[in-house]
Amino acid sequence: MKTIFSGIQPSGILTLGNYLGAMKHFVPLQEEFNCYYCIVDQHAITVPQDPAVLKQNIRRLAALYLAVGLDPNKVTLFIQSEVPAHAKLGWIMLCTSYLGELERMTQFKDKSDGRGESIPGGLLAYPPLMAADILLYDTDFVPVGEDQKQHLELTRDLANRFNSRYGEIFKVPDIRLPETGARIMSLQDGTKKMSKSDANQGGFISMLDDPDTITKKIKRAQTDSDSQVRYDKDEKPAVSNLMTIYSLCSGKSLEEIQAMYEGKGYGAFKTDLAEVVVETLRPIQERYEQLFHTSELDDILSDGARKANEAANRMLHKVEQAMGMARV
Ligand code: ATP
Ligand code: MG
Repeated sequence: MKTIFSGIQPSGILTLGNYLGAMKHFVPLQEEFNCYYCIVDQHAITVPQDPAVLKQNIRRLAALYLAVGLDPNKVTLFIQSEVPAHAKLGWIMLCTSYLGELERMTQFKDKSDGRGESIPGGLLAYPPLMAADILLYDTDFVPVGEDQKQHLELTRDLANRFNSRYGEIFKVPDIRLPETGARIMSLQDGTKKMSKSDANQGGFISMLDDPDTITKKIKRAQTDSDSQVRYDKDEKPAVSNLMTIYSLCSGKSLEEIQAMYEGKGYGAFKTDLAEVVVETLRPIQERYEQLFHTSELDDILSDGARKANEAANRMLHKVEQAMGMARV
């Protein structure tokens, strides 16, 4: 059976972008693959986090993974910091990386922007840690959004570089991008990706937003200068993004949506879009509420950590042996 690995940061509450670009696709994969889904808290601390908020976001993310339909009997769901092999292999991967290639990463550039002299070193070390996450599990495929493509390419380079120095230890993983929804854009800026750590709350819809908030955010979402509901990514990025969200949440094609709102303007379109998004998130939010406070959630995470530690330690041992860092 082939193996899948994917991680999400508890750096905020998940957005509709995280759902449509990543999490939604995790559910059908569990039927076919050996899946590892990780709450990557060590990635989240590459920028400052409030301890109480981080703790809550870790639990929220765990409950959301299950609320969208992941079955703990089929997947391994765990918290990165509970599997120390990630940090250990992360260090080795950092030592395998070159400064120049890390500085070229667009996420590093975006997230260091405006921080002056105070760029956290962890932002630079993020991609080698991500490579470690993936390589620890003999991963075949990594389902992620488009923003992670560059990091995946680096992961492949690091795996190949390591293998050529020390022997064929790592499997070189492939990326799996969704056909549509791989890059959901901010509601306030059609040229910037939707992100859960965006300081502008109006830029994203959180998976836990209530119906009123969702409706308000969509009503205030940026549109383009004319009043036509028409898909044109270059000329009309904001409306095209809203149409993509509509399509993914309703199952209707972009052509159908365009025909439905011909001559009707943005008002009617936004009212219906809000309803479609609310109805997509409603069942997830209901299951989330039931799960959040249960001890079952802790049991699932403990069991996940146990299974992940077993697999990860096996790989770490092989790596350390190959490098001359194991006595046996
Ligand atoms: P942060 O702002 O803290 O980086 P994020 O919203 O980018 O948060 P991540 O935890 O970095 O979320 O990424 C989790 C997953 O969601 C990854 O697979 C990533 O590719 C995907 N993803 C993130 N943003 C989007 C988006 N706007 N559209 C589609 N997929 C996305
Ligand atoms: Mg991100």
